[in-house]
Amino acid sequence: MGFGEFYKLLNEKRYGPLFFQEPLQKYTTWKVGGLADLVYQPEDLAECAEVLQLARQYQVPVTILGVGSNVLIADQGLRGLVILTQGFQKITWQQHQVTVGSGVLLSHLSRLAAEKGLTGLEFAAGIPGSLGGAVVTNAGAYGCSLDQVIVSVQSLNMEGKTKEYRKEELALKYRDSIFKREKELIVEIRLTLQIGNISEIKQRMRQYLHLRREKQPLELPNAGSVFKNTGQGAGRLIEGVGAKGWRVGDAQISEKHANFIVNLGEAKASEIKTLIREVQKAVKQKYGVELETEVVFLGF
Ligand SMILES: Cc1cc2nc3c(=O)[nH]c(=O)nc-3n(C[C@H](O)[C@H](O)[C@H](O)COP(=O)(O)OP(=O)(O)OC[C@H]3O[C@@H](n4cnc5c(N)ncnc54)[C@H](O)[C@@H]3O)c2cc1C
Repeated sequence: MGFGEFYKLLNEKRYGPLFFQEPLQKYTTWKVGGLADLVYQPEDLAECAEVLQLARQYQVPVTILGVGSNVLIADQGLRGLVILTQGFQKITWQQHQVTVGSGVLLSHLSRLAAEKGLTGLEFAAGIPGSLGGAVVTNAGAYGCSLDQVIVSVQSLNMEGKTKEYRKEELALKYRDSIFKREKELIVEIRLTLQIGNISEIKQRMRQYLHLRREKQPLELPNAGSVFKNTGQGAGRLIEGVGAKGWRVGDAQISEKHANFIVNLGEAKASEIKTLIREVQKAVKQKYGVELETEVVFLGF
């Protein structure tokens, strides 16, 4: 029992698509991360459930990845199986409610909602993540967040069993949900939106996108805000210790936005991690504040 047999079995069953020894940097917005032993991109729920059962049986570790806009993957890569959620793309509208596959992009859904004159997702216009990743962290911006529109979530647990959660059971808080502690594969999310005015909705989205372009270093690979915002604002604390522009290898604290770390070209995950630790140390020393990361570390 082990990875070799597991891989052979998936091939025999023609499950997939499967990618062996796959570079993960192409699946992250930071463009860093080593090789995955095996990447699997399911499109069928029943097949995915069986793969999870087999992974458990063969003791193969499982990592779930949306579009990699909130993760730092180690240079050593990830052992075992990486499941990509991009195959879960179904969107079903029922008046102002929508059921969405976890691989759908937040920005795409927010545009579709705007076209239908539905309000509630304008904040998501410039967030590059998937709906699944957004549930895990309760993504939000400009005073709004996903918990304001979520109704329920369907997931697969690591035994391949389907689970249903009502919003109250998700423990959604600032950049937090039960899925930060319990590893499950979020498959589908049901949201409820409100009827609004199309031109006002689109105007709000344009404003938010404009603010992002003005304030965020979107021209370089990054993973959004690296640290959670404390009462004083992580960016302000980082600026306060003079860290803007600090550099380790090709990883740099953005000159444009102190809570962003940009990849200037060939940054390694280890360099980004070192920079994160240096900033945490400096902020702790000067302000006594422990900056907590918003990005998730995988494979360290
Ligand atoms: C330029 C930029 C701007 C951003 N702005 C914002 C912002 O304003 N607000 C905000 O909240 N975030 C922001 N982010 C961060 C990020 O886009 C969001 O957190 C997003 O929701 C993450 O989704 P993802 O698909 O990229 O998740 P990933 O980075 O792929 O994964 C993040 C975590 O969720 C888990 N995960 C992902 N999908 C699933 C699933 N289907 N089931 C179970 N677990 C899963 C992963 O295992 C990992 O632990 C920004 C990022 C960038 C690069």
